[in-house]
Amino acid sequence: MKVTLVSKTLKLKHAWTLARGSTTSKDYLYFKVEHQGFTGWGEAAHNARYGESPESVKTVLEEAKTILEADPEAVHRLQEWLPSLPQAQAAARAAVDIACRDWVTQASSKPFLPAAPDRELVTSFSVGIDAPERIRAKVSEASAYHVLKIKLGTKQDQDIISAVRKATDKPLRVDANEGWRDREEALQMIDWLAARGVELIEQPMPTGQLENISWLRERSPLPLVADEDICGIEDINRLAGVYDGINVKLMKAGGATPAAAMLEKARTQGLKTMLGCMIESSIGITAASFLAPKADWIDLDGNLLISNDPFIGTTCQEGKLVLPTRRLGLGVEEKPDALP
Ligand code: MG
Repeated sequence: MKVTLVSKTLKLKHAWTLARGSTTSKDYLYFKVEHQGFTGWGEAAHNARYGESPESVKTVLEEAKTILEADPEAVHRLQEWLPSLPQAQAAARAAVDIACRDWVTQASSKPFLPAAPDRELVTSFSVGIDAPERIRAKVSEASAYHVLKIKLGTKQDQDIISAVRKATDKPLRVDANEGWRDREEALQMIDWLAARGVELIEQPMPTGQLENISWLRERSPLPLVADEDICGIEDINRLAGVYDGINVKLMKAGGATPAAAMLEKARTQGLKTMLGCMIESSIGITAASFLAPKADWIDLDGNLLISNDPFIGTTCQEGKLVLPTRRLGLGVEEKPDALP
């Protein structure tokens, strides 16, 4: 088996600003496996928030490369060795999981994941933090999408929402990205947002403040969804009964296989589920989209926020996800000359 690490800088259409910082590009590594005429692709959309860097991703991918090149049959025994790669490096493990699953399912003429129930896959579209006049322009650009996810967690939160509301009456979801520090102020803000057509609040306060989240949830008119507070399946028990729901991402879970297990477990624990993403190209987004029918809320817009996606896979048409028609494996194709 030939394994190649391919690096690519993804460029954001707009500077991507959250409560914790701003960026205009992402340097990612792709994991490419080739064997017996089939090619599998995986993506590591690492995030500094979770202690990941290009260097840490590379170390883990090199380790997986060594295993697969020494024994190509290891691609069929992922569950035996993938969980033993560093726990903290979930995005790198996700890249390996997605690439190997892509290869195995193509080689055995199967779709990337077993069929999920058929339903319309309406995704929210994210609007990063910006000056109110720019927010209005971004909302106009997002006219194709039925639901917007607005990033808050700043001193200008009310100005941002007022700007959004001048441009649209669409349903909104709000992601504070840990930005609210005081629970009384957070509650006041949630009450204010509830009166303005907001459906849910994601990660209102910093991680680990479950007592404050419980206090808020007893009083909040809107569902509270954990994002930074949830990484892997081991976090679910702790959050059940504290939050209303969790945001499952392949890059936090360590791939499509563990993300599917998380969605299942969350449901049995009475938690609603959002299927989310990082800034990702169509590799990560397409892998996640196979799980989208199983989630209560879909937020798979990472590839829509970049201007140089090297792949074509799941697309978004009129705000709804359309999975690739080439349905063996991941079904993603490289754009000509898009990769080094
Ligand atoms: Mg979030």
